[in-house]
Amino acid sequence: MSTIEIRKVTKQFGSFTAVKDADLKVDAGEVVCLLGPSGCGKTTTLRMIAGLERATSGDVIIAGQRMNELSPQKRNIAMVFQFYALYPALTVGQNIAMPLHAERLSKAEADQRVMKVARIMHLDTVLDRMPNQISEGEKQRLAVARAIVRDPNCFLFDEPLSRLDVELRHSMRGQIKEVLQGLSKATVIVTHDQLEALTMANRIAIMKDGLIEQVGTPHEVFAKPANVFVASFIGTPQMNLVEADLRSFGNGMARVVLAGQEVEIGANAAVSTLKPSKIMIGIRPRAFTAVQEKASDTIGAQAELIEPMGAETLIHARTAAGGDIRVVVPREKRVKVGEALNLRPDPGQTHFFGEDGKAVRA
Ligand code: ATP
Repeated sequence: MSTIEIRKVTKQFGSFTAVKDADLKVDAGEVVCLLGPSGCGKTTTLRMIAGLERATSGDVIIAGQRMNELSPQKRNIAMVFQFYALYPALTVGQNIAMPLHAERLSKAEADQRVMKVARIMHLDTVLDRMPNQISEGEKQRLAVARAIVRDPNCFLFDEPLSRLDVELRHSMRGQIKEVLQGLSKATVIVTHDQLEALTMANRIAIMKDGLIEQVGTPHEVFAKPANVFVASFIGTPQMNLVEADLRSFGNGMARVVLAGQEVEIGANAAVSTLKPSKIMIGIRPRAFTAVQEKASDTIGAQAELIEPMGAETLIHARTAAGGDIRVVVPREKRVKVGEALNLRPDPGQTHFFGEDGKAVRA
């Protein structure tokens, strides 16, 4: 069974801890993206799974077998790197066939496997060309073809699309996702591009400073971020995170002082467990409604900068207390610089975080 599991995996480089106590399980047919800012430990985690780096402690288990002491070759893993080294003197077909040499297949069998993979990756019409005679997108597909031509235990991808331009990246995301879905292997993809993670992954592991902060489906990490870091990292434009004082809670409403204003905000009962002092409230820019009248559940702010984004408009507004709030409204809603806004947060989409930065949820 193709599965990947890491248990309490730690990597020290001297006294520096690059990855700490990482736990993750990837099932057969599942794609998990490791996502996080530069230096958070994504590549180190991937390299420990591949056997290119030895874990300082913890277990790396592939297809149910502990692999800590095994070399990369013995782990039967297929890797696709950002810089895919193609053999320039071999044709596309010969490049795909290279990993099969160790398997000592008959020529007929090898040809059959190459043709099958070439069809999956839409390379069957360019098999006789040389690598310098194919496009960047085809080169990327060739790198994936070489990885899937064997029957590996699982797949590891390290920033596979970062060299491609935006449009090609978009189409390749879909194509690779489709291919992976048909292969029933456990796959880990490292990326720092949240769009790539949100579109390609079944689940996302979000890392920061060597720690896995949250593992969840794209919907879960967006709609139910576990803490302030995940809340601020996922979603564009970024979630508004505002410090507030919790005054009271009752009937599903929290009375808070936020941006210098006393406001009632819809909240779940778990909010009553928070200490009244400094809490953090998170509201996504699309989770406001701009209404005519000031009310007990609206936040007052003044539009300062208007950024048209096509179908929507991003408004940078300033509260009386001087805080910034980002609001996204439909394009049809005309807002002028200097206009006073009454912003009503959607009670179902308001996030409360305690002093420790962790979300409180019912
Ligand atoms: P990026 O997105 O920039 O590739 P990353 O999340 O993949 O970043 P890693 O490459 O895993 O990060 O590195 C994690 C931390 O470990 C970084 O601070 C890095 O400088 C450090 N590091 C990585 N390899 C070594 C090494 N061989 N020796 C010492 N420190 C290292």
